[in-house]
Amino acid sequence: MRAMVFHGPGDLRAEELPVPTPARGEVVLKIDAALTCGTDVKTLRRGHPVMIPRVPTVFGHEFAGTVTAVGAGVRRVREGDRAVAANSAPCGSCRLCLAGRPNLCEDLLFVNGAYGEFIALPPRLVATNLVTLGRGTPAARAAFAEPLACALGGVERARVEDGQTVVIFGHGPLGCLLAMAAGARKARVILVGKAGWRFERVRALGLGECVDATATPDVVAALRTATGGRGAEVTIDATGRPEVWGQALDAVGRGGCVIFFGGCAPGTSINIDTRRTHYEELALLGAFHHTPELIRRAVELLEADGAFDPHGLITHRMQLDGVREALDLMAAGQAMKVLIEP
Ligand SMILES: [Zn+2]
Ligand SMILES: [Zn+2]
Repeated sequence: MRAMVFHGPGDLRAEELPVPTPARGEVVLKIDAALTCGTDVKTLRRGHPVMIPRVPTVFGHEFAGTVTAVGAGVRRVREGDRAVAANSAPCGSCRLCLAGRPNLCEDLLFVNGAYGEFIALPPRLVATNLVTLGRGTPAARAAFAEPLACALGGVERARVEDGQTVVIFGHGPLGCLLAMAAGARKARVILVGKAGWRFERVRALGLGECVDATATPDVVAALRTATGGRGAEVTIDATGRPEVWGQALDAVGRGGCVIFFGGCAPGTSINIDTRRTHYEELALLGAFHHTPELIRRAVELLEADGAFDPHGLITHRMQLDGVREALDLMAAGQAMKVLIEP
């Protein structure tokens, strides 16, 4: 089979590999749709010690496909089933798994291999994070399950409610999925982005009010004005930039909640206004990754009659040999999500 194999930072090679055969407990999927992700761009540039502990490995982590073979002992799925899998599987037995926080599992097993014709899913992933799809759900939509589950987790952390104002910093795919997730909870959504074709595209998707951070000298003041001077009930950073984390903190209102969703570069830090944080009882929360429960909820939303359709975030379609070009487009800010169809 053909696959795009990651050998280390900057080193992605098109290779011919044997089609995997499933060991006991494993499932082999033919990949019908894979999606590029900002994480891929970062990982290709500098590697990723957590998501990719060993190289070489087939690259890519957002995918949906069709079961072509199952190993001994697998009962949950059979050949011909269409399915989507997460890119990780918690152990289920560590302290944090037992505490109901499997996204923080001390032994989280990461799985890569979306950019190949087939992928073998390890037994733990099959047992915890493989979800079968109904006939009508396009693979390209189902492949959004992983990033959408992360977005649902962020919105869940903030306990977003009907009628609240949620400000999301960042208009990339995850900012948009966060906007959809907050909108699904009937919140008023304000997306903060930067002028350009991507922001115009996001504006046209109608995910919420759009504030152009480049059009105002003080985006926090603009957001305060937009919220009657009070500040938002919830602010979420989806940029992974420390200065924007600071803006998220400044733009939240009394009693509000800030979600730090975007991961910043190692070694960075921000200042926190201790007085406001204490007297205004601000809740400052990180949000990371997803859980099997969130993956299932994401699939349910994506399968629910087209009501939740992230298709507008796909700006390009390519085949496997286009992965390199796709990631270059992403890095240059010329693509949102690229659909890869092996
Ligand atoms: Zn991703
Ligand atoms: Zn665990």
